[in-house]
Amino acid sequence: MLETLPVSVIKGVGPETVRDLESLNIITVGDLLEHFPYRYDNYQPKDLAQAAHGEKITIIGKVHSEPSLRFYSKKKSRLSFRVFSGNYLITAVVFNRGFLKKRLSEGTQVLLVGKWDAYNATLTASEIQLNPSEKRTVEPVYSVRGDLTVKGLRKIIRNALDYVSENPTNDLLPEALRKKYKIPERLQALRQLHFPTDRQSLKHARRRMVYEELLLFQLKLQILKTRHRQLGSGVAKNFDPKIMERFINALPFSLTKAQERVVDEILTDLKSPFRMNRLLQGDVGSGKTVVCAIGLFAAVQAGFQGALMAPTEILAEQHAEQLSKLFQPFDVKVALLTGAVKGKERRKRLQDLENGDIDVVIGTHALIQEVVRFSNLGLVVTDEQHRFGVEQRRALRSKGEQTDVLFMTATPIPRTLAIAAFGDMDVSTIDEMPSGRKKIKTAWVKHDRLEAVLTFIRKELKAGRQAYVICPLIEESEQLDVQNAIDVHNYLTQFFKEFHVGLLHGRMSGEEKEAVMTAFKSGDIHVLVSTTVVEVGVNVPNATVMVIYDAERFGLAQLHQLRGRVGRGDAQSYCILIADGKSETARERMRIMTETTDGFKLSEYDLKLRGPGDFFGYKQSGLPDFKIADLIHDYRALEVARRDAGEMVSSKAFWEAPEYEGLRERLERDGLLESERFD
Ligand code: ADP
Ligand code: MG
Repeated sequence: MLETLPVSVIKGVGPETVRDLESLNIITVGDLLEHFPYRYDNYQPKDLAQAAHGEKITIIGKVHSEPSLRFYSKKKSRLSFRVFSGNYLITAVVFNRGFLKKRLSEGTQVLLVGKWDAYNATLTASEIQLNPSEKRTVEPVYSVRGDLTVKGLRKIIRNALDYVSENPTNDLLPEALRKKYKIPERLQALRQLHFPTDRQSLKHARRRMVYEELLLFQLKLQILKTRHRQLGSGVAKNFDPKIMERFINALPFSLTKAQERVVDEILTDLKSPFRMNRLLQGDVGSGKTVVCAIGLFAAVQAGFQGALMAPTEILAEQHAEQLSKLFQPFDVKVALLTGAVKGKERRKRLQDLENGDIDVVIGTHALIQEVVRFSNLGLVVTDEQHRFGVEQRRALRSKGEQTDVLFMTATPIPRTLAIAAFGDMDVSTIDEMPSGRKKIKTAWVKHDRLEAVLTFIRKELKAGRQAYVICPLIEESEQLDVQNAIDVHNYLTQFFKEFHVGLLHGRMSGEEKEAVMTAFKSGDIHVLVSTTVVEVGVNVPNATVMVIYDAERFGLAQLHQLRGRVGRGDAQSYCILIADGKSETARERMRIMTETTDGFKLSEYDLKLRGPGDFFGYKQSGLPDFKIADLIHDYRALEVARRDAGEMVSSKAFWEAPEYEGLRERLERDGLLESERFD
């Protein structure tokens, strides 16, 4: 395989270039060929009659006047001349390239790229070529490092293409597949991507490499998933369906259709001898807790212990409270284990857990500590899974043998993304809200309407309701976040003299936070001023107003989470976004928030507005970095690749037939097939 050779075998690649390439993660010839341009500039010359004002265009023309040059300073200059292009005589302006004056004279052929000012018939050129020879229409733009220039890179890529063309190996994709999707051969596609001849061929070339990349990605995920099932086969949980029915019938409400469906999926997994690895996603308030309770109950009925890990103490307590209530009539023993449980009581709970006297333990990351041991852990549930690192989740799971795992998330992930990010997990989705909920009314106001907002809050407070006020977020500094919260708290304490205003922020100790939350829950605190620590899962049904300061600083997913703190009771609830809407995206976000309360829709917008990297916050998404594919634009290809990969992995041909040799080799090179074969 020529592609696996180091780049140094390519003509023109010396030790320095090797180093520069290495800093771009280019080690092998294959890496070099797959270092795709990050964009293409359009050099398709435009007929000026069709050019819009302000558009960036390319024109070809003839210089029609002697250029005039004016200097503003030593380095700053303005060169202008008349150009005849098509039937138009226009003015061209070039900044800071006075040296061109000597080389431009009447009749010189020029290619100009720049911004078209239709009113003044002027093109301000950012790029100019004299006597353009090569007929370029699209030109790739690459990222480069060190001394490496785009020009230099193009040269060595061309050499690399020539090098592999001399000894062509099998195409990665079988011919049948290429025919089916009408996509070009690999080498041809690579050449086109680096040296495009026209838009159309480039499009096909890109389509091919996108498909290939997504197919490889999906093959990896599905092979891992299959292997996971075969090697890490789990322990079947044999629970009595009758007692499950009794438990579900005893719930204070009947399950929604969506809840029934996901309960079914989870119970099927638990019963099966495979290890469950499942993501349960559902919007805020869709009722995930009761679903996980049913799962935990099943595990206990089958003779196992269960664990539920929540990201904060407040949440863990809330869950413990809820589950105790549900489990109590069925004699399931529930215990809480957080950092707040100390001393003798802690030792006793640890002991009981190890003896098997506790059936379900609920806690924070305190659960993953070394000292926590189980007698027979069968099911682990993590709430708000993205708040935990991979290591933490693994640590908890490894406290049992072949433990089933359920991850819960209230950050709805668009289906396409869920497939991409969690392709090695099964995904259950609760896409329906319990009936009878009133839609939260959302309003967007500017800062100068604060008085009116506070007056509105007072009205709700007088009616016996409670309110949250979320403070401005300053990402760089927790200290400033806290200061903001203190300022707002002082101000509101003044304003709401007749009510009790509480304060919650990240610098408070666990106990302090606890005390404030308890007071808010019991209604002793009427208005809770908080930083975003209140964000996840907190349940105070009497709170009906959520005010968010500087709402534009938050992503849609987070705003939606915050909004989900209200609307948990029977009363009409309100969310008020305070934002001046300085940028177009900010205004867009505020508009979307006021228009929909559907978390899945919001997350799709969020993705479009911010891109996948930002979705869960920096580096938390777990989404792979693709070289050419783009999850938002290529989601159809992703679905096709997923389906194809599924069919391949379960076919004999994929593992044996020569036409799949290329794919197998590539997967092997990526370290996937080295250990076991599975038929
Ligand atoms: P989340 O999915 O955000 O974790 P919760 O599990 O906290 O949501 O549920 C929110 C509220 O809805 C809880 O008070 C819960 O008791 C209630 N709930 C859950 N399922 C139903 C249902 N099927 N019908 C009515 N209320 C329900
Ligand atoms: Mg929850």
